[in-house]
Amino acid sequence: MEGGTRVFSRSSLTGRLMNWSMQQEQLKVQLFRLIDVLPALDEPREVARHARDYLGGADGELPWVMRAGLEAGAKVPAILSFAARLGVRQMANNFILARDAGAAIPKLVRLREKRLTFTADILGETVLSETEAQKYQERYLRLITQLADAAKNWEDIEQLDSDDRGPIPKVNVSVKISALYSQIKPAAPQDAIEHLSERLRPILRLAKARGVFINFDMEHYALKDVTLALFKKMLEEPEFAGSRQLGIAMQAYLRDCARDMLELIAWAAGRGQRVTVRLVKGAYWDTESLMARQREWPSPVFDLKHETDANYEAVAALMLGHPEEIGCAFATHNVRSMAACIARAEALGQPPGSYEIQMLYGMAEPIKQALIDMGHRVREYCPVGEILPGMSYLVRRLLENTSNEGFLRATFSKERPVTELLADPRKAQGAEPVAWPVPPFRNEPHTDFTRSEARTRMQEAMTVMRGELGKHYPLLIGEREVRTDDEKLSINPAKPSQIVGVLAQAGVKEADEAIAEATAAFPQWSRTEADARAKIIARAGDLIAAARFEFAAIEVFEVGKTWAEADADVAEAIDFCRYYAGEMRRIASTTYSVPGELNLHHYKARGLAVIIAPWNFPLAILCGMTAAALVAGNCAIIKPSEQSAVIGARLARVFRDAGVPPGAIQLLLGSGATVGAYLVEHPDIALIAFTGSKEVGLKIWEAAGRTRPGQTQLKKVVCEMGGKNAIIVDTDADLDEAVPGILASAFGYQGQKCSAASRLIVLEPVYERLLERLVDGASSLRIGSPEDPANMVGPVIDSEAYERIKAMIEAAKGYAKLAYSAPVSESQGYYIGPTIFRDVPADSALAQQEIFGPVLAVMRARDLDDALTIVNGTQFALTGGFFSRSPRNIERVKREFDVGNLYINRGITGALVARHPFGGHKMSGGGTKAGGSDYLLNFLLPRVVTENLMRRGFVSPATEGQRPDS
Ligand code: FAD
Repeated sequence: MEGGTRVFSRSSLTGRLMNWSMQQEQLKVQLFRLIDVLPALDEPREVARHARDYLGGADGELPWVMRAGLEAGAKVPAILSFAARLGVRQMANNFILARDAGAAIPKLVRLREKRLTFTADILGETVLSETEAQKYQERYLRLITQLADAAKNWEDIEQLDSDDRGPIPKVNVSVKISALYSQIKPAAPQDAIEHLSERLRPILRLAKARGVFINFDMEHYALKDVTLALFKKMLEEPEFAGSRQLGIAMQAYLRDCARDMLELIAWAAGRGQRVTVRLVKGAYWDTESLMARQREWPSPVFDLKHETDANYEAVAALMLGHPEEIGCAFATHNVRSMAACIARAEALGQPPGSYEIQMLYGMAEPIKQALIDMGHRVREYCPVGEILPGMSYLVRRLLENTSNEGFLRATFSKERPVTELLADPRKAQGAEPVAWPVPPFRNEPHTDFTRSEARTRMQEAMTVMRGELGKHYPLLIGEREVRTDDEKLSINPAKPSQIVGVLAQAGVKEADEAIAEATAAFPQWSRTEADARAKIIARAGDLIAAARFEFAAIEVFEVGKTWAEADADVAEAIDFCRYYAGEMRRIASTTYSVPGELNLHHYKARGLAVIIAPWNFPLAILCGMTAAALVAGNCAIIKPSEQSAVIGARLARVFRDAGVPPGAIQLLLGSGATVGAYLVEHPDIALIAFTGSKEVGLKIWEAAGRTRPGQTQLKKVVCEMGGKNAIIVDTDADLDEAVPGILASAFGYQGQKCSAASRLIVLEPVYERLLERLVDGASSLRIGSPEDPANMVGPVIDSEAYERIKAMIEAAKGYAKLAYSAPVSESQGYYIGPTIFRDVPADSALAQQEIFGPVLAVMRARDLDDALTIVNGTQFALTGGFFSRSPRNIERVKREFDVGNLYINRGITGALVARHPFGGHKMSGGGTKAGGSDYLLNFLLPRVVTENLMRRGFVSPATEGQRPDS
């Protein structure tokens, strides 16, 4: 690196590219995306194509070297490919010490010769399977052994190998916990800590035996509490208690940082334990702020750079103030931050050797040298490993070095005066937080189960609901609660002996009574002002929100959803109420006036609506269809699924409590084939809102099309059915993203979501590589009772589903290769482990029929044409996904993959109201989009009233804006 004017040396290709990219913010993103994908490309042709796709549009702004390269690449791809790979390798070499420990050792020796010491880190994070976690553990063990062996020959250098209290280890290794356990679940920190302790113990034991220091890196905020708890737990185990060779990183950009530090100090003081803390600002600022905003969670990080800087100095002072508890390591490249720490230490009379300065390999070289010369102990963080697993690290470094906010860029580019760079961050003025776009509708946030209060509330709600298991639920007809002789049990699919509720069963008589009540209630409810109805429906949303943990808990018992899945379903129900309330207000009426003429465009309710809902989103779908019908002024008779009748019955009560008149919302529990079919065919029913299987959906569609005696209107059917959803994986896909995305989409809620992935189409070159990681990933998923938040895969809904899915799996073994079938150890409950078939024929039952279970059919595609033919080759068109880093292929797939909801580079489930209006076409449904701006129109009839306001040349005062039927 060149001290003076540039962050990167002008003489290297990397330097030139980086310096150029800082002046071209738009192109910087394209360039970094290209760098990210390059190591994953095998063919020169592919490299040339990607380079053109990412940078081709910006020809005029590219430096001549790159323009020339792109032109040459069009003719001779091998040249461009070679140059590009060399460039990325060079770039990686700037920040990655070596490929492996063997190659690292001579370089570490050279660092020591320069009076720099080190902490070695193995590149890679967030493993996807236990196989990968195991491998990381082995690599850490090897690294420790190799470095400790090598260090035996290293002479002591006082500046590096001792502090004010005596000798310190020559070898220092940094570990990332996300590399050591693949199933860390926010709601189950104890499970994570148990598994991580087991993986860590051998590492710590070896380190202790070999005199090696181990530092826990700090990663994403979701892992922060687990990392801190794990760190303390290890030091509380007799084997490691009192050790001075353990440290942890803490991030000053976190609002929690000072509080966590005080807790750590108190804990250390209580135990007479001294620990080393590496104080960093934090490497994930963009992700943390973006994800918090996306989830509507409070941001865990400061919004403004100077707030982080000020907090860094404050926490550093706290650390320096507790020398008996905390050994200080200040990791920063910011001269002001570092100077503040050094000045504080001096003021406290602490010599340079009592703390250390840490910096990253490949960054801020002149600053390191100056500090060494001043007598400080400077430790370099040295990543070791291959570029592919190191890509996240590399991209973080490129972003950091070119960030507008970053100290390094500002220093070296002389963009800002020195006085400003060294100013006290507490006095910074004028900065504004990033202005994020405000979405038009705010989704109810999902619960952040990393928070212990949230976990406690859920546990408490489970206890409360356990006490309510076995309750009787009557029908609600008009004002009456109706009990019937015939009753049906709803049972827990994870524990079939457990009765969740006892449900009254409606027959034709009850259906007729409900229709009569609804008919009587309709005139008044439909003429209630739209705004008043909207208020009532929004209130229903608030009531669900107030009882959200109880609703989620009952879902765990009745339909076998995990905590997070149940919570998401409840949040969606709340969204539906609030969103449709807002939509109704928006569309209620509009006028289109010309002088002397008033045109009132408005909507009226259709009439009596039957809502037939499935069990897989037992609250959200039923609630969404009902809220839409009601807010539009229809009277709703709801028939929840038999498997989730308790949840349905509780929801009916919510609408009543919110103020919907009894005749406008009625509950009929019973069998779809009898009471459901009767309602659908009834001549007085105007609207049927159905979500469920294709088989039932088609019957409803047909039955509703037949006009019966006495019928006075055409029935409207809102019909959403199943899918045979597919994900395509392109040759250049980021498998670190694709594998977890596929696993969650195929096996989340046991593959029983309408949007679940049941087909995976992989392009030939990555087929085997992906399949191997997918099988490893699937084999790591925890199967078991959803009451335990550590489990990811629960039971399928009932014995019938269990038998049907098992039979399909058996039949498939005859024509496709079983790649993986998870063993199930549960002794009761309808558990089917994740099952993966490979080389599945595209026309087979497995590839064409809906399964609604944790079964994934994997198919090989020659190229993207072939993949698109396969994915579009079923009757269905619901959801689909594509993992790719090729801009051109992404554009093509957007056009040609025929589904209602297409997801690029993410999982294909988890649609959010308003953000992702949901629904498909072909045999997946009638093209209606639940949670979308045009959904309510299906529940309404449009009217226009035109009034001539002229009376013999006068314009009469108009009753403007008033609906004639209100
Ligand atoms: P500066 O340019 O002064 O600060 C940049 C930092 O400020 C950003 O990284 C971010 O944290 C923060 N920031 C940027 N914009 C804003 C904003 N708008 N509002 C609020 N804050 C903002 N990081 C980890 O997360 N975990 C680790 O375990 C870890 N280990 C490290 C070990 C070493 C030896 C070193 C040197 C760094 C380590 N880091 C780690 C990375 C470190 O977080 C970044 O290198 C560091 O944040 C850069 O800060 P700086 O003081 O060098 O530069």
